[in-house]
Amino acid sequence: MKTILLFLSFMSIVTFNVYSKEKKEVNLYSYRQEFLLKPFLKVFEQKTGIKVNVFFTKKGLIERLKNEGKNTPADAILTVDIGNLSKIANLGLFQPFESKVVSENIPSKFRHEKNLWVGLSARARIIYYSKDRVSPKDLQSYKDLTSKKFKGKICSRSGLHNYNLALVSSMIFHHGEEYSLKWAKEVKANLARKPQGNDRSQVKAIAEGLCDLALGNTYYMGKMLENPKQRTWAASAGIFFPDQKGVGTHVNLSGAGITKYAKNKENAIKLIEFLSGDLAQHMYAQVNHEYPLKKNVNLSLIVQSFGKMQDGITKGSFKQDLVSLPKLGNLREKAIKVMQRAGFN
Ligand code: FE
Repeated sequence: MKTILLFLSFMSIVTFNVYSKEKKEVNLYSYRQEFLLKPFLKVFEQKTGIKVNVFFTKKGLIERLKNEGKNTPADAILTVDIGNLSKIANLGLFQPFESKVVSENIPSKFRHEKNLWVGLSARARIIYYSKDRVSPKDLQSYKDLTSKKFKGKICSRSGLHNYNLALVSSMIFHHGEEYSLKWAKEVKANLARKPQGNDRSQVKAIAEGLCDLALGNTYYMGKMLENPKQRTWAASAGIFFPDQKGVGTHVNLSGAGITKYAKNKENAIKLIEFLSGDLAQHMYAQVNHEYPLKKNVNLSLIVQSFGKMQDGITKGSFKQDLVSLPKLGNLREKAIKVMQRAGFN
């Protein structure tokens, strides 16, 4: 009898361990940075008892996922840029997932049509202009960057960076390849220096008088204002939302999907549901100054000061280009060719 009891309790421990191994964790590959995720992942772990193992990286995430194939430990991917999301989807490395919570939280225009990924936050790619040397009255659209009056006045990061490729993809969508090539060539001709650095370096260059205009993402204004060393850069520049009278300002997303070979799919869905919920959406807004995609989540005060998303998310004053958004990933290759043909870098 004793032996049977011992055997049974041993078995229950074994079962519990197997159960806990499969059911109580989720493995996440992330292009999103640790400082942003850590605070709310902790809350997720406390609420659900599901441990989140995160592999943070800046490069090679998609290649890694591809090489690992069926053996990948990753259950979910978290990344910026719709180009990355589309690339993973097109490689067949995501699997579709259904969640009532996610579809209630995130409007369908920010989700993949076959539920392969879901957007979690948005950012606009705007024009930073020198408050001293440029009047926003002289600006209207991305086309202004080609104007002869800005010759030698524009700074840019690499034309082949995801953020610029997504912008050019939206341009190809609306105006075609020839138009976009001409745009890229003319902007290149206006550059003050060879493309280099990140978005913030361009604003620094505006502060230093090296150039007057640059493309950059909205949230960097918030991040620079919060950084004592970068506050003066931010203070020198204003934010202009291009194409308000046209197709709207280009926006890009960060988002998440579940890997094809996920071993903890249910936990991955729970995690994505959590990321689409009030707390995480609030954190995206407050910690990283992004536009939350869930309705009625407040923008950070800094973001409120320069314009709200107009359509659907938070009522306010800026028009976003959501028409090209679902097509950006598929136009990425064309955008690369355009930038290369323009010799942008
Ligand atoms: Fe960024």
